[in-house]
Amino acid sequence: MTIRHFAIFTLIVLGISCAARQPGAAIKPGFNVYSKDQDVQVGRQASAEIMRQVDVVQDGALQDYVKSLGRRLAATPSAGDYPYEFTLINDPSINAFALPGGPIFVHSGLIRAAENEAQVAGVLAHEIAHVALRHGTNQASKASILQIPAAAAGILLGDGSATSQMAQMGAGLGLNLLMLKYSRGAETQADALGAKILHESGYNPVEMARFFETLEKESGGGGPQFFASHPNPGNRVKAVEAELRAFPQKQYTAGGSNFGAMQQRVAGLPAPRKPVQQQQAAAPPQRQPASGGRTLQTQAFRMAVPSDWVAYGDRSGTSVVAGPRNGLVSDGRGQVQVGYGVLMGQYRPRRARNLQGAAQELLSSLRSSDPSLQASGLRQIQVNGRPALMTQMRGSSPFGGPENNLLVTVPQGNGVMFLVFAAPERDWPGLERAAMTMLESLQVAQ
Ligand SMILES: [Zn+2]
Repeated sequence: MTIRHFAIFTLIVLGISCAARQPGAAIKPGFNVYSKDQDVQVGRQASAEIMRQVDVVQDGALQDYVKSLGRRLAATPSAGDYPYEFTLINDPSINAFALPGGPIFVHSGLIRAAENEAQVAGVLAHEIAHVALRHGTNQASKASILQIPAAAAGILLGDGSATSQMAQMGAGLGLNLLMLKYSRGAETQADALGAKILHESGYNPVEMARFFETLEKESGGGGPQFFASHPNPGNRVKAVEAELRAFPQKQYTAGGSNFGAMQQRVAGLPAPRKPVQQQQAAAPPQRQPASGGRTLQTQAFRMAVPSDWVAYGDRSGTSVVAGPRNGLVSDGRGQVQVGYGVLMGQYRPRRARNLQGAAQELLSSLRSSDPSLQASGLRQIQVNGRPALMTQMRGSSPFGGPENNLLVTVPQGNGVMFLVFAAPERDWPGLERAAMTMLESLQVAQ
């Protein structure tokens, strides 16, 4: 099912609660269920995954340049004591990103686009700040964490031990979770702490904000890739200037006499190796759901699911996915798909006044997100003693090959609750049986 897992996305863009903060005041990392060691562990695994996918620059002088620039920033007190590592990727797009616990990647295009060394340092400092403030695992904590205290939102059903599962998340599902879009609040924080790091290292912090603003202005419509994951919080120069007023006065440098030479080396890099195509999911899906059940409960519904399933989503039940861990896959573009399992949510029809109309509307919106989807007619069934509709669909599986789906719509309040069961065609019989058992147990809150 290529329907995007919007729950995780929405949770992530909700971002960090950001109480008013005086410029210059300390910033503390937010809610996090990972330990700092787990940040490092998760980041290392994700980094190894990335190294397999990208074209690392082979020019030793350039690689050393980025590493020594990074180390100078990482040595500042505000960077914290993470094992930072800096890698230059041969990619003409303007981008940089950080993984939890220290790995930081810079695209060669970013060095080309910068006016001076302080601007490159600015981006690195901003990325270091995301690491030091633990924004990646903060977001992952909110979105989808296992075995956490009941009070924490995000995970609805966990399995196994927390540590081993988190490590797995870093390598699979979590990789994209950790690399999704930061919130504007997180961006503001990363700018502020980045400014401090630059101040401590002697680079002019305003260059960081100025570079971001120039990029934003020059980029026009689409914008450099950087802003896809680092949304512009607005007024960056002003905000950084306010931070600077809180720091002791200092002479800054825009730095780097060999910056021009480095830019020339970047210009002389060979064309990037073709990026590895979207990987197929590493693990095959579970063929048979385990017998026995556990209860998945949200404010919107209650349902028994197989005992080896996990569930992610929000406690209100507006958007939940469930399946065996290896049934939920990332598509390599920052989205999570249900390869084997069920996606559940609520749909408020735009025009339709009855269940039939609502189901039709929902079906066409699903098809607009995946045009390859073919649906059979709607069939009346009973769920929880109430009339519901069911339709069989076929699409393509994130595991490769054809996929079977079952869409069930159940009236709920002013709209419908929907369930989309998905499995590769060859695994469908097992999932279909499980789906029927799940539907029998489904209780929808009105
Ligand atoms: Zn950022």
